[in-house]
Amino acid sequence: MFSLSGKTAVVTGGGSGIGRAISLLFARQGAAVHIIELNTAAAQDTADEISQAGGAVQVHAADVSQQAQVQATFGAIGRADILINNAGIAHVGNVENTAEADFDRVYQVNVKGAYNCLHAAVPLMKRQGGGVILNVASIAAHVGITDRFAYSMSKGAIFAMTLSVARDYLGAGIRCNSISPARVHTPFVDGFIAKNYAGQEAEIFEKLSKSQPIGRMGQPDEIAALALYLCSDEAGFVTGCDFPIDGGFIKL
Ligand code: NAD
Repeated sequence: MFSLSGKTAVVTGGGSGIGRAISLLFARQGAAVHIIELNTAAAQDTADEISQAGGAVQVHAADVSQQAQVQATFGAIGRADILINNAGIAHVGNVENTAEADFDRVYQVNVKGAYNCLHAAVPLMKRQGGGVILNVASIAAHVGITDRFAYSMSKGAIFAMTLSVARDYLGAGIRCNSISPARVHTPFVDGFIAKNYAGQEAEIFEKLSKSQPIGRMGQPDEIAALALYLCSDEAGFVTGCDFPIDGGFIKL
């Protein structure tokens, strides 16, 4: 079950956190993994681990917010059975203290970045007779986390993007879903704590962990396991849905 043998998987932001865990797991399940990353040193680190385990992997340096770079990258890869739109950035602020430049950058990476990859990957998938897309949203879009105005909005756009693509390409054999993690222990979270709570890191980490109903943060491997199911042939009946993976955050 859940074999990705013979599939080409493109993972954005595969150098860190959730994207790294997805890249490692998908390679273990037999996919040829292509990592699109700004941070090529981090991506190379993921790639080295995959190669050492006997997996197939390539790193592509690109900023997902730049359409020309993304088009050239997918042109070079030439195939995409699976696309994971994972690269994303955070921003802390309510509507009053969100500067225009910060709002624009969050949208450029989190929304336009996903669009750029879809725009490049969907024609390849159509030509191949099908494919699977998984967009990484967030519980922020479900509940509107305090002081995450631009971030929550950008992740809300992912829901509509997922539905639109799922509907438009049902007949082309392309499935499209999203996942909405609550806090997952990645460099994304560590960086947020270090930047905003210098000197109180351990205390804030504990507080954020306990703020999740299950009493801890998620682990990247737990997110990767859901991603694997959704991108496998076993999930062939699943499209146009968002899947919270949140330790009870939304409902409990
Ligand atoms: P992370 O910061 O650990 O990793 C993100 C990776 O994306 C980094 O390696 C970074 O270099 C890359 N990246 C950023 N901007 C890029 C760009 N413009 N082009 C190419 N690569 C770029 O983050 P993470 O915690 O693994 O989060 C991954 C995704 O999951 C994000 O979309 C994030 O919003 C979402 N998410 C994370 C959490 C969490 O608690 N960690 C919760 C919900 C949703």
